[in-house]
Amino acid sequence: MIEVINLRKSFDGTDVLKDINITINKGDIVAVLGPSGSGKSTFLRCLNCMEDPTGGSIIFNGVDIADMKVDINVHRRHMGMVFQHFNLFQNKTVLQNIMLAPAYLKCQDLKKAKRKNRMIRLKNAFRGADKLELVPVDTTKEEIMKETKEQAMELLRRIGLDDKADVYPSTLSGGQKQRVAIIRSLAMNPDVILFDEPTSALDPEMVGEVLELMKELARDGMTMVVVTHEMGFAREVASRVIFMDDGQIKEEAPPEEFFENPKEPRLQDFLSKIL
Ligand code: ADP
Ligand code: MG
Repeated sequence: MIEVINLRKSFDGTDVLKDINITINKGDIVAVLGPSGSGKSTFLRCLNCMEDPTGGSIIFNGVDIADMKVDINVHRRHMGMVFQHFNLFQNKTVLQNIMLAPAYLKCQDLKKAKRKNRMIRLKNAFRGADKLELVPVDTTKEEIMKETKEQAMELLRRIGLDDKADVYPSTLSGGQKQRVAIIRSLAMNPDVILFDEPTSALDPEMVGEVLELMKELARDGMTMVVVTHEMGFAREVASRVIFMDDGQIKEEAPPEEFFENPKEPRLQDFLSKIL
């Protein structure tokens, strides 16, 4: 699904990512560990084009998204992102937070489809054939909003927060905010979700409910890249664990091998300090 080839990123001449190579397959759960400042967040931000890579390629569903010429917005909508600090819109209700992006994009799609359909109809009429019926051009914006709302409510029910649909994020606990942020990214129906330390800002008693939801997504087959300090999660849920240090992937292995038999001295040192 994602192939990262010789990815490099530098800020003002300082190399923060140095030749990152990794392949992420459909259904993979990749846990990313590493000390602070090793480039984990920069790596995720390059994956979803929040940062422009300095060099290398990121092939996502067959297209090099590191190539400036591609329309990154088309690809970014297939990649969800969950941040340490939730990043919910404070001035929107929980329901609005979830609906905003999918509703906007569906309306854009509808506009485009209507334009295209008209063009195709014209073209076909010109050719004397009218066989192509590409989109239901009679779909209304109201129907799109209704459908999007139903899907958002369904997701809220799934995490038991449907009674919070109309409140503002500030009234939620940290764990609730992060679970809303996760289903907000799910509402886009992404191919992959990137998590950047999703539990690091939470009070300890709220970490469990967020990890539980992430485990559920993993069981459902979602492809996930998770920067985390939760060793239990990495061990139990990840299909592969990678260790980043100094802008490089220093070790990549299935969890058992990664934790039981680390090869890199830097990883051995890192694990001895946290386990
Ligand atoms: P991690 O997430 O592993 O803690 P980061 O990816 O946030 O690491 O940062 C890696 C390095 O890149 C750090 O030295 C950080 O200071 C630097 N860095 C990150 N973002 C920027 C930026 N926008 N401008 C300059 N330096 C940055
Ligand atoms: Mg970080």
